[in-house]
Amino acid sequence: MSTLEIKDLEVSVETEDGPKQILKGVTLTIKDGETHAIMGPNGSGKSTLAYSIAGHPKYTVTGGTVTLDGEDVLAMSVDERARAGLFLAMQYPVEVPGVSVANFLRTAKTAIDGEAPKLRTWVKDVNQALGDLDLDPTFSQRSVNEGFSGGEKKRHEIAQLELLDPKVAILDETDSGLDIDALKVVSEGVNRFRARDAKGVLLITHYTRILRYIEPDFVHVFVAGRVAESGGPELAEELEANGYERFLSAQAAV
Ligand code: ADP
Ligand code: MG
Ligand code: MG
Repeated sequence: MSTLEIKDLEVSVETEDGPKQILKGVTLTIKDGETHAIMGPNGSGKSTLAYSIAGHPKYTVTGGTVTLDGEDVLAMSVDERARAGLFLAMQYPVEVPGVSVANFLRTAKTAIDGEAPKLRTWVKDVNQALGDLDLDPTFSQRSVNEGFSGGEKKRHEIAQLELLDPKVAILDETDSGLDIDALKVVSEGVNRFRARDAKGVLLITHYTRILRYIEPDFVHVFVAGRVAESGGPELAEELEANGYERFLSAQAAV
């Protein structure tokens, strides 16, 4: 049983002109078994929310709290957050030249579990996870993200998700740059993950397309650093039909 609770979160980012407030009071609770979609226009602060929860040093929390099962996430180092059970799939995954996918996954798994995984079952698990995402077993010998296509990066992220088995996954634009086949494969991976022990998922997306494959329980419209409206899957359908116009003009009127 896990609950990620975000309360009145305010975050600023350091820019050349000084600190700029991006998140202006975000409140959101994700219980286990729940999938929450955050949808919003470019620049509304969706990635800032993801990075802040993950502990990216560029973002300064100026107010509010984030807890996982009552534990203060904001007081944890990035490693501690991962060990506590948070997983962030990044919108722009970094390259790690010279580190193979196999070593990367094993190191991450060891760091999170506090002990190295048993070699025989681990190799089997890795091959299974890669295979499930239509990645060739030789993929595990490649350097992390080096020369990966957009689709390979996303498949690799979801293989990590399945192998590391966190409590809560934050997926930032996992759908961006995927063709329809890759989108299906990646979505199936997320669905396998969330079906297992009723996991929590925060799915950040610009487009409604992925929500046809990963059905959310809740949809939140994110505008100008805040949740402007929350609802069920029908809210995504409204966005599909009408875009963000109604929310943006409401924002402009404030
Ligand atoms: P989204 O993911 O919704 O597109 P982001 O969280 O990436 O939005 O960005 C929100 C706002 O914060 C944007 O106006 C963006 O320009 C600004 N921002 C984010 N990171 C930085 C940064 N490092 N320096 C300056 N501005 C930033
Ligand atoms: Mg963006
Ligand atoms: Mg973003």
